[in-house]
Amino acid sequence: MSECLFISDLHLSEEHPAVEQALTDFLHREQKANALYVLGDLFEVWIGDDDDTPLAERVADRFKAYSDNGPALFFMVGNRDFLMGPYYAGRCGATLLEDPTVHNIGGEPTLLMHGDSLCTEDIDYQAFRAQSRQPQWQQPVLAKPLEERRQLAQSLRAMSRDAGSNKAEDIMDVTHSAVNAAMETAGVTRLIHGHTHRPAHHRVDRGDRWVLGDWLELGWCLRARDSGLSLEKFDIGS
Ligand code: MN
Repeated sequence: MSECLFISDLHLSEEHPAVEQALTDFLHREQKANALYVLGDLFEVWIGDDDDTPLAERVADRFKAYSDNGPALFFMVGNRDFLMGPYYAGRCGATLLEDPTVHNIGGEPTLLMHGDSLCTEDIDYQAFRAQSRQPQWQQPVLAKPLEERRQLAQSLRAMSRDAGSNKAEDIMDVTHSAVNAAMETAGVTRLIHGHTHRPAHHRVDRGDRWVLGDWLELGWCLRARDSGLSLEKFDIGS
């Protein structure tokens, strides 16, 4: 029997040690999985793989111990940690996936995305997303000294806090047309994504859409077994 796990939107930061602890506990109890997929926004902010914060080091050590013990580990970047690259993923023992990617999950081709690209009504964000994924945008940013990037990240965070933070009601939802188009282009009947903080299973025109949840007071995990998929939640506390 195979078992694949999907999580996203942990938004790890020094401000929420309980979420980091919940990840540690999760990795301990899910050591028997065949694969773990982290579909974006593992970190609240990411300023480059050369960042040597204690948080990044601790998380890398835990994932490395996890993946060394068996499960295949896959990372996809989100809108918060889109500057994460193969170097950090490699330190965790993870393979970095493109967004979107189709993987065979329990015999079924499944479209995996972070989900931000499906929120097509957010025109300003989509413009920023398109620009900030270009090497021409990223290279000069990543070439800045770490201290300058830390300050830049801090001011960006202050701005996004004013603009609405991590609450689901402040994050635009996906549009049905974008979901249909993505599933049609990929030729799949199953989509798994995060980002919107609206964990749910939806029946859509082309099949099934599974939405992962963000971690704060609760943690969320989508479990795929041969018998089917189930969305699970667990307490994190504070
Ligand atoms: Mn996101």
